[in-house]
Formats: sequence, structure tokens, C-alpha cells
Amino acid sequence: MEHTRGLITVISGPSGTGKGTLIAGLMDIDKDIHYAISATTREMRSGEAEGISYYFKSREEFDDLISRGEVLEWDEFCGNRYGTLRSELKSRIEAKQDVILDLTVKGAMAIKKAFPDDSVSVFVLPPSIAELERRIRGRKRETEKQLSARIAEAEKEILSVGRFDYVIVSDSITEAPVRLKWIIDAERQKMIRNEDILQRMGF
Ligand code: 5GP
Repeated sequence: MEHTRGLITVISGPSGTGKGTLIAGLMDIDKDIHYAISATTREMRSGEAEGISYYFKSREEFDDLISRGEVLEWDEFCGNRYGTLRSELKSRIEAKQDVILDLTVKGAMAIKKAFPDDSVSVFVLPPSIAELERRIRGRKRETEKQLSARIAEAEKEILSVGRFDYVIVSDSITEAPVRLKWIIDAERQKMIRNEDILQRMGF
């Protein structure tokens, strides 16, 4: 159903919880969701592409975007900067499109504060700590030092789950995206996003 205001869904959760897989699974079953691409100073990994995974920036370019007011929120994670671009979000929301973001907890809280009525926050938890560690180590694309930093950061992030509107346990690659879609569909039916419903129906 069409709605009058776009919805911003913010996904957070420690690295290794399968946020990327969850978002990809959602986008497969919900064609009305647009992924907002962030800017980052992190190096491009194999399999990633400019303007698809991220907008890859040098530190100077990133800081320049911040000083020009083009970054809605940003955070530092494992020594790199990541930020949500105003241009990615504003045009979508104005076009009444629904957007999904993958952010750190700090980023998620900043978006919730900036868009209190137009955002919903979802925290993704791994089935267990042991499974989380197994998934992070299983990626094998980083050094031991980087992996240990990610595991420590992950355990810290999990303690923030209570600040989110919803929680999803990433226990199944088929069912978790469906549960996320239920959340988004319920939010789409909210009165605040359908204030002109009678008008649209010709009453
Ligand atoms: P990765 O290096 O694995 O792609 O991302 C590391 C972390 O940065 C993830 O937890 C992801 O949610 C977060 N992240 C990605 N883009 C943004 C952003 O624009 N803002 C914030 N605050 N966090 C982001």
C-alpha cells in the first residue's frame, strides 16, 4: 500500500550477526525498500564496488563532506569513519520511499533522534556469543588483531539492544528477513504514515 511518508528502517547489531544477509534477504522479498549507501574511509574489500557497497572516501574527502554539512551522522568503527549522506536520505524520504540503513548503535540513535516519527530501529542479535565469534572468525579476511577488535566491539554493542524498538535474532537466513518485513509492514500501516487515507480512497 502506498503511504504518505517514507519510512527509515535502521538496522544495527555487531559485525558477524548477518546484518548484510538479513538486509539482502529483505530486499529480495520487499521491492519497495531502498538501501541507503554510506560513505566510508575504510578500504574497499574484494567483492565490493564503489557506489554499491559504499562511497569510498579518503579521510580528507570525508572530513570535507562533514564540514559542508552533507553528513547526517557519522561514527568511527575499528579505526575508520562511516557516515550517512544527507543526499542519500533526503531525496528518498521526500519521494515517499522507504529506506534501510545499516549503522552503528551511535548512528542508529542519531537517526532516531533526527527522524523520531519517520524511523524505526531494529537490533540484530546472533543466536549466541559462541556463534557470533565463530561467524566473525569465519570471514578470514582480516588479521588476528582486526578480528579481536571486532569481537570486543561486538560484545560491547550487544549491551545496547535495549535502546532499540525491535530485536531480531538472526537464527535463520530464510525466516529472519520475513520477521523484518513484518516489522516494516506494521510500521507502514501506522496512522501517521496514512493521514490522507480517506482522501486517497475518495471519501
Ligand atoms: P563494515 O566495515 O563491516 O562494512 O562496517 C562496519 C560497521 O559500520 C557496521 O557495523 C555498520 O553498521 C557501520 N556503518 C556502516 N555505514 C555506516 C554509517 O553511515 N554510519 C554509521 N554510524 N555506521 C555505519
